[in-house]
Amino acid sequence: PRLSNQIAAGEVVERPASVVKELVENAIDAGSERVEIELENGGTRLIRVRDDGGGIAEEELGLALSRHATSKIASLDDLEGVGSLGFRGEALASISSVSRLELISNIHDDPQWGWRVVAEGREMEPRLSPAPHPRGTSVTVRDLFFNTPARRKFLRTEKTEFGHVEEAFRRLALSRFDIGLTLRHQQKTLHQLRPGVDASARERRVSALLGSKFLDNALHLDMETGGMRLWGWVGLPTHSRAQADQQYFFVNRRVVRDRLVAHAIRQAYRDVLFHGRHPVFILYLELDPSVVDVNVHPTKHEVRFRDGRMVHDFLFSSLHRALGEARPAGDS
Ligand code: ADP
Ligand code: MG
Repeated sequence: PRLSNQIAAGEVVERPASVVKELVENAIDAGSERVEIELENGGTRLIRVRDDGGGIAEEELGLALSRHATSKIASLDDLEGVGSLGFRGEALASISSVSRLELISNIHDDPQWGWRVVAEGREMEPRLSPAPHPRGTSVTVRDLFFNTPARRKFLRTEKTEFGHVEEAFRRLALSRFDIGLTLRHQQKTLHQLRPGVDASARERRVSALLGSKFLDNALHLDMETGGMRLWGWVGLPTHSRAQADQQYFFVNRRVVRDRLVAHAIRQAYRDVLFHGRHPVFILYLELDPSVVDVNVHPTKHEVRFRDGRMVHDFLFSSLHRALGEARPAGDS
């Protein structure tokens, strides 16, 4: 890691939650079925993400920590319709430049064959050491911002930081029902989500993450038109104010905050009957990856649709119809 890494680190590493997000996304990209997240002191002292994915080969371990080292795109052409979550090769380098990082990985089924590399701030230890580990990867990040006091000053209380981690966890867990996820803080297991993609497994996960009240008062929808599919849950307006921030929108499994999307949902909500109400929702939009550009911002919460109008209209009309049907006759 060099100076440029510390500058770039500001873009992706703002707080423990951003570290968790990047590490779990890497685990997901590696094809993991189970991912365990463990934290101490809101993640300021320790963040560990352990996965059972494909692992990193011995000769690539050091490389994985250097800037712009990504195994996920071979050429610029690949950027179009990129399926993996990470593709810039910045996260690990950025994180390691502002923490004490240990990376252990094994690509073999034999747990004897793990290797370990450590980095502290700008310094990476030149040598790997053998470290037994089941197939997969563990990344441990200690003392985030230990060498950048200015950045450390921006961290809030451990409780607040952990709150942000939980929010990141919710988004990740809602984005991939097929992956088992565990969240531990101060040796306590807060979430243990089993993988499962059938309707009841999905609902169990939503309830575990957002409280059982969420589904009691939500409408399930699943609509498809012209190669686009919209499915998920929309809350009906008896939801309390406390739930006002429960808004989750995913485009091809990636969490997205987008003006056009927000506008379409608000319009549909307002139009039907929920005037003045804040919509709550968990919605999944699936469409041909080649008509969405996800490479807009390093944290990748933004997207650009090739045909925004069409997407907007599809969202609006799908929600409008679903909400309209849910409204009891005579109610206004
Ligand atoms: P990016 O995800 O953008 O490629 P990262 O800095 O996040 O960049 O990771 C760099 C590279 O390290 C990845 O491209 C991948 O090859 C490897 N890597 C990181 N984390 C894991 C993991 N948990 N399992 C397997 N490979 C990983
Ligand atoms: Mg990554």
